[in-house]
Amino acid sequence: MPWCEPCGRFYNPNTLRSDGTCANNHPVADAKGASTKVPWHFWMLLIALGIYLGWRVIQGVVWLAG
Ligand SMILES: [Zn+2]
Repeated sequence: MPWCEPCGRFYNPNTLRSDGTCANNHPVADAKGASTKVPWHFWMLLIALGIYLGWRVIQGVVWLAG
């Protein structure tokens, strides 16, 4: 829910303008498109999971070979 600090109220994303400003022309932090952006820590978690799974595969291969 986009929050406008100067207005002191929440706005429905549909009532905001396309550039992410409220009815009183304030730039609202949670503008359109901002909520759909994937946060950076999501990718870090995904990379960490990939490294972990890769490591487990290597461990499995070593265990089978040994
Ligand atoms: Zn406002």
